Amino acid sequence: SAPTDLVPAPADDSVGFPAVDAAVDRARAGFVPDVDLATRLDRLHRLEDLVRENRTVLEQALATDLGKPPAEAWLTELGFTLEEIAGIRKELRRWMSPARVTVPLSLAPARSHVEHQPLGTVLVMAPWNYPVQLVLSPLAGALAAGNTVVVKPSEVSATVSGVLAELLERYLGDCVSVVEGGVPETTRLLEHRFDHVFYTGNGTVARIVMAAAARHLTPVTLELGGKSPVWVDGSTDLRTAARRIVWGKFLNAGQTCVAPDHVLGTPEVLAALEPELVRAVAEHYGEDPYHSDSYGRIVSGRHLERLTGLLDQVPAHDVVCGGTAEPGERYLAPTVVRSAPDGPLMAEELFGPVLPLVPVASAEHAVELITARDKPLALYVFTEDRSVKELFRRRTSSGALSFNAPLLHLTSPELPFGGVGESGTGAYHGKFSFTTFSHARAVLDKPLAPDTLRVVYPPYRGLRARL
Ligand code: NAD
Repeated sequence: SAPTDLVPAPADDSVGFPAVDAAVDRARAGFVPDVDLATRLDRLHRLEDLVRENRTVLEQALATDLGKPPAEAWLTELGFTLEEIAGIRKELRRWMSPARVTVPLSLAPARSHVEHQPLGTVLVMAPWNYPVQLVLSPLAGALAAGNTVVVKPSEVSATVSGVLAELLERYLGDCVSVVEGGVPETTRLLEHRFDHVFYTGNGTVARIVMAAAARHLTPVTLELGGKSPVWVDGSTDLRTAARRIVWGKFLNAGQTCVAPDHVLGTPEVLAALEPELVRAVAEHYGEDPYHSDSYGRIVSGRHLERLTGLLDQVPAHDVVCGGTAEPGERYLAPTVVRSAPDGPLMAEELFGPVLPLVPVASAEHAVELITARDKPLALYVFTEDRSVKELFRRRTSSGALSFNAPLLHLTSPELPFGGVGESGTGAYHGKFSFTTFSHARAVLDKPLAPDTLRVVYPPYRGLRARL
């Protein structure tokens, strides 16, 4: 049994959550340990069908919850997920094949290989900001690895949660069950034993998830967030840099875990960057972004209030552009502000369309500020100077480091996507998803004859002298 002094005992279950328990039981009952390639490919095909055949209803749900423009929904959620699944499908046979490895001479004669086994029944918990992609992309990895899955979509993006619950039941009910709901349901869910928990969201809940998993010694992957900084210097083309920063920041109205959180630069560079950022905002979203059909909305009134509360602390003369809100519409304008390194906007991950420009003395000073804080999920460096690239590469740590382009690294299936320290533990996408959701089992086969182990059997007389 689990050590009760480490983690508080689970709540008395006399109230009961029969739907939650039934969902877990069903997923567990559906697990088959030696699930073959054909079954896994069939499940991945059905996941693709789910996305393709329900594109409109998914796009509408994303528009309801996040005002997500259909093109953005395709680029960042539906199309993205289809690419991920197709990439996994293509490679799955190879990944599943046992990989022969050499044995050291001391073990000869023998043969050995590494084979990837499913873990069992895994839990995928997702947040609200990319509520389709962040459910379906880890789900693809979990199914490819042969697991059955319990999915917990975010209750904050309630429309998407309802649609996914219905569709996953219809297309993949034999191997995926969905639990909807908020804290009470999730708390109950986390009392169950899973073979892996894959959580995407914030660090506070991640601690709850990890503590709950610890009761069962269940391994976790934690995909978290934090303040992802940008460095811009005078060697770069500021106009293109501004376009890219504005794109990465204001996509999904800034509610992206790897969005540029703030820009660090010398006062001269920031002064030159300001008009380029204003220009880029107008290029992307028009003179009044409120009327743009390419600009999303904040997920809830509560989340909007958090952001406007932060902006209330910024003096008017430090607002470079934006700053206006329409609470009834959950709209917050793409906003650029000037901020001190220790200003109110620098305390927490902003997770909204607010971009502080933070003056520093030099690239070294920027590195000092970055390394004094939690390790970020992403670090973006805009420079043409190789020594500056090297400085950031060698002296900082982050989930990812990207030169001259935000966000793109997460679209490459060859790159692990994940954080380090406060920004998360573990990684996924492509092959990394397959290994995250598999157990790499060591297999050794040694013939009984000749019995070469005789040299190490006791009694050890004379053995030590020969070692
Ligand atoms: P959220 O509020 O939707 O929470 C995520 C999940 O945790 C949901 O399923 C929710 O039901 C569950 N949950 C919430 N409170 C809980 C509790 N008390 N006990 C148990 N479960 C609980 O989403 P969020 O955390 O606000 O998401 C935003 C955060 O996620 C940001 O920090 C962002 O950077 C991060 N994020 C990370 C990634 C990544 O891939 N690394 C992607 C997107 C978002």
